[in-house]
Amino acid sequence: MLGGRLTSFSQPLHGLAVSDKHRRRVKALLLFGSTMCILLGLGWGGYYLLKAKWLLMSMDLALATIGAIALGCTLTERTRLAALLSVHTLLIVVCIICLFDTPIAGVARSAHMHLLTVAAASYLLFRGENAYLRLGLPVACFVACLVFAGSDIGITNPAYQPPIETRAITVWINNATCFIGIAMVLAIMQSDVAARNAIEDDLRTALAQGHFSLHYQPQVREDGRVIGAEALLRWEHPQRGMILPGKFISLAEETGLIVPIGDWVLRKACAQLLNWAQDPRTAGLSLSVNVSASQFRQPDFVSQVLEIVHRSGIEPSRLKLELTESLLVKDVDEVVSKMAELKSHGVALSLDDFGTGYSSLNYLKRLPLDQLKIDQSFVRDLLNDPNDMAIVRTLVSLSRSLNLMVIAEGVETREQLDWLRDNDCLAYQGYLFSKPLPIDQFEAFVRAPRVPDPAPASPTTAVPAELA
Ligand code: C2E
Ligand code: CA
Ligand code: CA
Repeated sequence: MLGGRLTSFSQPLHGLAVSDKHRRRVKALLLFGSTMCILLGLGWGGYYLLKAKWLLMSMDLALATIGAIALGCTLTERTRLAALLSVHTLLIVVCIICLFDTPIAGVARSAHMHLLTVAAASYLLFRGENAYLRLGLPVACFVACLVFAGSDIGITNPAYQPPIETRAITVWINNATCFIGIAMVLAIMQSDVAARNAIEDDLRTALAQGHFSLHYQPQVREDGRVIGAEALLRWEHPQRGMILPGKFISLAEETGLIVPIGDWVLRKACAQLLNWAQDPRTAGLSLSVNVSASQFRQPDFVSQVLEIVHRSGIEPSRLKLELTESLLVKDVDEVVSKMAELKSHGVALSLDDFGTGYSSLNYLKRLPLDQLKIDQSFVRDLLNDPNDMAIVRTLVSLSRSLNLMVIAEGVETREQLDWLRDNDCLAYQGYLFSKPLPIDQFEAFVRAPRVPDPAPASPTTAVPAELA
């Protein structure tokens, strides 16, 4: 297995302001939940101290402690830790409290109502997470809530139960905090849906009104000659200005809009290749196009690509599709057969962000690739991190043994370039040469490429400030 370096907890990202607002609302929910735990825990803990109900007191102090830790984590922006900690511990502590909150004549159990709030909150907090967090925890809370609501299991010895005179008040407090918590979760979900719909509409409008464009980042050889470009999508928003793909691609993928957008990118890229074919200075260039996993998985993806390529009349090998390792998490056989079909028609294939995913070497051997693209996260710290050096060396020699071209992305300094060249990586892309450019500037660059100075003036030859 390779790396997995960039995989991390994903805060649900819905692009533009949505993710920020969502994060702020989630933070508010965690602050509310943790403060309630502290207040209820300390309030009841103090009361049970006076009543010498030690077991009940210690459970309420445990609740207050959970609240305090979660509050600390939330205030220091460790919201995921706060969420993980509070949902797991609350599930356990509330279940234990329920065992003491046994129904008695005239007073129903009410502590289990908190499990509903925890279920709803965990569904919201872990939306983009694995099945255990996203579904397992809410279901566990829900089942526990059902069991406590429908049965009278629990401790029946009055010595361990809350004093009879407080039971009726407890029911009111528990139900009220539960309803407030659930209302907060629903309000957050509702706001997320509204914001998401607004951006989805914006994306549709952008597509219909031609607000997307492609920028082209040169790919160069060691002698500085431009051998091709990567087409990078830009959204020229009439109000917000230029929006980078990191802000909207994930939403486009979630909503399925990536299919028409990807289609537009491919048509535009092929039209550009046709244009380049007319000019001897650009006729030999290849153009790499990013393809999302969800786009590639469309049943008619291959036929669509081939139709666009054939209609445009370009030489198919000039088009290079950049795929990522995320494609390989399922249906590898189908992925391989689709890639093989594209390859049999001459379309070139590159594995993007190589080393960051989980592609086993076994899979890699089976993929009909032309190129491996070393991810910029390895290039960034290349000169300071011996692990990155070792990884890049391995990736270069791996591509050699698999007979694949290799290109390093994110090359920003002369020193990185020299190291890569000395280690047999002979094609590069990065700010050292050029940032992604609008088409006219890219074509000017091809005519007069900016070859980096071979003798660095200082050991910190770095990315120009305006690109940093
Ligand atoms: P990517 O495919 O890894 O593209 C490289 C990204 O690194 C680009 O960001 C590029 O501007 C940036 N970059 C290039 N050289 C350097 C460098 O020297 N240093 C640093 N720090 N960054 C560098 P960009 O354009 O914001 O694109 C981000 C991602 O959005 C792309 O990552 C790609 O995954 C996705 N994307 C872009 N265009 C498309 C598209 O048409 N379709 C799809 N599905 N995804 C796209
Ligand atoms: Ca790429
Ligand atoms: Ca990349």
